[in-house]
Amino acid sequence: MRTESIPKTAGRLVDGFGRVHTDLRISVTDRCNLRCTYCMPLEVVFKPRDQLLTYEEIARVAGVLAGLGIRTIRLTGGEPLVRSRLDELVGQLLAIPGIEQVALTTNGLLLAEQAQSLYRAGLSRLNVSLDSLREDVFEKIARAEGLERVLSGLAAAKAAGFRDIRINAVSMRGLSEDEIVPLTLFCRREGFHLRFIEFMPLDADAGWSSQQVLSGQEVRGIVERRFGPLVPAIRSDPSQPAIDYCWADGSGMIGFIDPVTAPFCGQCDRLRLTADGQFRNCLFSTTEWDARQVLRSGGCDVSLAELVQECVRDKRAAHGIGSEDFIRPERAMYQIGG
Ligand code: SAM
Ligand code: SF4
Ligand code: SF4
Repeated sequence: MRTESIPKTAGRLVDGFGRVHTDLRISVTDRCNLRCTYCMPLEVVFKPRDQLLTYEEIARVAGVLAGLGIRTIRLTGGEPLVRSRLDELVGQLLAIPGIEQVALTTNGLLLAEQAQSLYRAGLSRLNVSLDSLREDVFEKIARAEGLERVLSGLAAAKAAGFRDIRINAVSMRGLSEDEIVPLTLFCRREGFHLRFIEFMPLDADAGWSSQQVLSGQEVRGIVERRFGPLVPAIRSDPSQPAIDYCWADGSGMIGFIDPVTAPFCGQCDRLRLTADGQFRNCLFSTTEWDARQVLRSGGCDVSLAELVQECVRDKRAAHGIGSEDFIRPERAMYQIGG
């Protein structure tokens, strides 16, 4: 039953700390064609397909949230491109009044085949995850082959017309140091906006320790020693997590996302919907709000709106990594959606 409309008084998605939520991360699947050590276990049992939201269900939830002020959506996973016809979902989401941008985070393995259709569907932004340009290191991290396919995917994305492509690289101590300069050279040459992300305690094997975090500051040190001082970029969007820098010659940008050493929770404007239809107010949420149950029991849009507002109201000030009362969420990154 979808006939009931959301009262105008329903308002925006504002939490107890005054943070207004305008960004929704939607995981479309927990499946993936890689097994990155920092995200997934090697042996994995995926959710049964009938527990994943259909595109129609996802679009319905997004429509309700757009009515509450969500403006940008990022599709993620698992690997979103393993779900068939993702371009159709992009089109459905962009057709929702109020939704201004639909972006995608992908490992790029299936991008060569899908870049054109995604571009034609209107996909606004593309982030491709790539931690190394060496096949042996790629395989050590991803526990599968794939570097050549990612590189072909990136070339196809450029050819399809995507601009401002971002490359996400997770940096881990003892693993990433030697990858930083080659990745930087590659991204400068290709015109990609490289962003290094600190390793967060969301790996499925629960092996994270603070010693493994190669901080953004350390990575920046390595970059500056090789390429010279970086120039801080003007922050146009205070809620964006990356601290971006320009190259001194003005040829492009590089950024650092430092959730562990410099958390940006105070500016957080994000909500998440997992592939199995649970609202989460934080990557590190230990509670979830069951949208799928509302959707599949004939619940109306007002019930969905109330559910997400309850989820937002319950949001904590910050993730608390490093504090005594920090609790690791039960779900790993691939089950949440990064
Ligand atoms: N499969 C897609 C990909 O890899 O781009 C999308 C999902 S993945 C979970 C989204 C992002 O989260 C990727 O950029 C990945 O590198 C990052 N990520 C995964 N686990 C992480 C962790 N423990 N700490 C920091 N970033 C992580
Ligand atoms: Fe898959 Fe992305 Fe997780 Fe790697 S980071 S295992 S590509 S979901
Ligand atoms: Fe937002 Fe949670 Fe990430 Fe902090 S840890 S920025 S509150 S999602």
